Amino acid sequence: MSYAGPELDPPDPRRSPLRRPLAVALAALVPGALLGWLAYEALGGSGDGGPGRVTGAASSSQASPPAGADGDEKPAPAAPSATASAPAGSGSLKGKVVVIDPGHNPTNFRHTAEINRKVDIGTGAKECDTTGTSTNDGYSEAAFTLDVAHRLRTLLQRQGATVRLTQDADRPFGPCIDERARIGNAAHADAVVSIHADGSGTGNRGFHVILPGAVRAGAADTRAIVGPSRELGKLIAADFGRATGTAPSNYVGDGSGLVTREDLGGLNLSTVPKVFVECGNMRDSKDAALLTSGAWRQKAAQGISEGIVSFLRG
Ligand code: ZN
Repeated sequence: MSYAGPELDPPDPRRSPLRRPLAVALAALVPGALLGWLAYEALGGSGDGGPGRVTGAASSSQASPPAGADGDEKPAPAAPSATASAPAGSGSLKGKVVVIDPGHNPTNFRHTAEINRKVDIGTGAKECDTTGTSTNDGYSEAAFTLDVAHRLRTLLQRQGATVRLTQDADRPFGPCIDERARIGNAAHADAVVSIHADGSGTGNRGFHVILPGAVRAGAADTRAIVGPSRELGKLIAADFGRATGTAPSNYVGDGSGLVTREDLGGLNLSTVPKVFVECGNMRDSKDAALLTSGAWRQKAAQGISEGIVSFLRG
């Protein structure tokens, strides 16, 4: 595992015992809470953790669905490149609204009855939400999606965008996939990105962006968003590959990093441009090493942000 994140992500018992005494010693040399904090930071002690971390570590048996359990959304790939962390241009996103949809919810697994309830997605009925997947070590997809969402929100706000999250671990479960779509619609979002990581087999690697297919059934009518969503997805896929240095999925999308689906409620019910980003495969150990790295997640957020910025600037 090339775990190299600047933050403490999933609990890492090997680090804390060694680092904490050092931090305390330094803090003692320089009186004052602020300086002590600075020393702690310098030693890499700051974590932006988030609620999901607890879930993943506390009960990996419960919180770890079987491989491939990333129910609502599945896979496809995009185009890689290499570098870049600078924003694509320097214009302002003032007046632009971006909705970030962190897939699943850290405590969905405690509410199976509620999340298994079927909701109408236009083309049929589907479970309200799913638990999501996890790495083999118990780092949950829900923790991952929230962390990337927070990083992405910061980047977009710096560009002047108005950013809303569909959930921030501030509710016991969900929201359901139909509500996730409605949140973007009600916000009149200029772009919506649903963040996920996949739960596929070992050896299946890489990222993919899921685009809405053209559907018209019941409450679902994606015809107006298929075009702009594809544009959004292509830009995100290209920038995600560049920023993270990772390749498009080797198991869906024929190497393009793009997959079109007509069975996802979160896409079918959207009336604004929207894509899902499957950042990698949590069940592959090499991908998991990336997904559990805070440094890599920052790159992932950067890539997604750059794609959104390019899309919104037209
Ligand atoms: Zn997911």
